[in-house]
Amino acid sequence: MNKQEQLEKLNKEWEKICPCGLSAGATQAVPGEGSVDADIFFIGEAPGKKEDLEGRPFIGAAGKFLDEMLAEIKLSRKDVYITNIIKYRPPNNRDPLPNEIEASWPWLEAQIDIIKPKLIVFLGRHALNRFFSEEQISKVHGKLLKEKVKNVSTENFFALYHPAAALYNGGLRETLIADFKKIPKIIKTL
Ligand code: URA
Repeated sequence: MNKQEQLEKLNKEWEKICPCGLSAGATQAVPGEGSVDADIFFIGEAPGKKEDLEGRPFIGAAGKFLDEMLAEIKLSRKDVYITNIIKYRPPNNRDPLPNEIEASWPWLEAQIDIIKPKLIVFLGRHALNRFFSEEQISKVHGKLLKEKVKNVSTENFFALYHPAAALYNGGLRETLIADFKKIPKIIKTL
């Protein structure tokens, strides 16, 4: 099986068996999308309403902003992989619960293992804190973190503010854009 087939098989299997308890209240799973050969693997929080209806990650306002930032560094969604910590929309867009994050974790871990990206980029604190529970996004955003994480093949991490949080907050927005523009230079060093 090639990487594409492995990823499709993984996502199909997990859609049936994910023990996160969220599938019954969601329209469908939002496993992720992009290139199986991506160097950059983005992890957001959880699907929102639009994502739940269409089965694709980051397609609302935050996603449009993400697309614009990718274009600024001469990339598109087809060049990267985009997914979330949680693959089903939590009811009323509430924050994911710790047990839901844990139940979904092996799915994310397996996606990373197939794609083997050079850099994992956290979009927001939920993704950052599942990997590094002690870190604060306000302190580590825009910095390359080199760490060994159990069962994760990639050792390079980069945290960004969540595009939805930064969308309507001028200061955060500028910071997020500036941090995002560091990605090409970082990739060159890996
Ligand atoms: N916010 C996220 O964290 N993920 C999505 O897929 C959409 C919005």
